[in-house]
Amino acid sequence: MTFPKAPLFPVTAGVNAQGHLVLGGCDVVDLASEFGTPLYVFDEATLRDKCREFVREFTSLYPNTGVIYASKAFLNPALAKLIREEGLGLDVVSGGELAVALAVEFPMEEIYFHGNNKSLQELEMALDNRVGRVVADNISELNMLNDLAGKAGLIQNIMLRISPGVDPHTHAHTTTGVLDSKFGFPIETGQAEEGLIHALSLPNLNLVGLHFHLGSPIFELEPYAIAIDVVLAFAARFKERFQLKEISPGGGFAIGYVMDKPPPPVKAYAQTIVSALTSRCRSLGLDEPRLVIEPGRAIVGQAGVALYTVGAIKEIPGLRKYVSLDGGMGDNIRPALYGAIYEAVKASEMRKQPKERVTLAGKFCESGDILIKDADMPILEPGDIVAIPSSGAYSPSMASNYNLAPRPVIVMVKDGEARLIRRRESFQDLMHCDVY
Ligand SMILES: *Cc1c(COP(=O)(O)O)cnc(C)c1O
Repeated sequence: MTFPKAPLFPVTAGVNAQGHLVLGGCDVVDLASEFGTPLYVFDEATLRDKCREFVREFTSLYPNTGVIYASKAFLNPALAKLIREEGLGLDVVSGGELAVALAVEFPMEEIYFHGNNKSLQELEMALDNRVGRVVADNISELNMLNDLAGKAGLIQNIMLRISPGVDPHTHAHTTTGVLDSKFGFPIETGQAEEGLIHALSLPNLNLVGLHFHLGSPIFELEPYAIAIDVVLAFAARFKERFQLKEISPGGGFAIGYVMDKPPPPVKAYAQTIVSALTSRCRSLGLDEPRLVIEPGRAIVGQAGVALYTVGAIKEIPGLRKYVSLDGGMGDNIRPALYGAIYEAVKASEMRKQPKERVTLAGKFCESGDILIKDADMPILEPGDIVAIPSSGAYSPSMASNYNLAPRPVIVMVKDGEARLIRRRESFQDLMHCDVY
């Protein structure tokens, strides 16, 4: 059964006879009482659908495409296994993410190691485990990696992270491919050229391609086409000495957080990227390289729903009604960090019309800990369950223990069964690393 905000929810979402939200065949009100809140519910069918949609839409237009899941959006061992089962590779940005991949025996040749300041230990770990690609961000990393590879007697395949100088018109905190960015070698200043020539001169590194990532979420298609043009034109300048075997436009594919801002379909991103790539290769006389795309948010975002229990309610007459939830910036920092917007539903009464405009506040000790500033909701009472859709990406992965709040439970639902994939932290867990 469909309901008003269904497009923001997982593909299995529905409403049962009691008017409760159902995900993966599970009544979320039951899930909330079984596992407690805040609770993150991931729908397995949606995760698999999204993996398959990216593979299908890109490979049908451009068979030589690799789909690499950008794991910083959310990673734990259960999810890493699922990603592997779907045949995707993994983009990691830290030793910690690589450790999760190792824990589930993820094939290391399918790993892309990113980051603007990889440590010596991280680079050693990458080499020791023979990761497929290190995406080098700067000259000092190139030198450090070359030395380490030499000592280990290895030739490491690398890509260069290029900053093409293209603005994707997203929030400044999540814009990465413009000139003034900490990421990558800028083309405009000549540093990309310098980096490329230097990389080619290093004996223990094998430069296979160029990478860029513009930012996230990117609701427009054109920035991808423009940046592909810029990066291919750059590569063509070095045709004589460098063969571009791989190109990656990164990730950044948008999802719907609110009903009035729908994302482009995956197919549209695929058409734009592939047509820019093929037409530009033709006009520049370049062989068509392997295409590597790195969706993060678009794989896990829609699959995840956050559930909270309503607690204190305070109405400031004529001004605002605060409805406080039992989570907030500790499990979802995005609204406080970059003004991210969400919608919410009353999960226990999905058929009720919105009756009042409230502010859904978190329970953390910051005035900025507001999850949704103006949410049109049915009347909420203490004990009600509120669900926030599109919560799968960059919420659990950015969760903190601020106020020493235990981080939330995560379950995976499928065919009426809920499988715990991360238990709630205990108070003992919170002191696990403390020495006294
Ligand atoms: C964050 C990131 C991605 C994924 O971004 P999404 O918006 O989650 O798709 C891909 N590639 C790189 C290099 C990144 O840093």
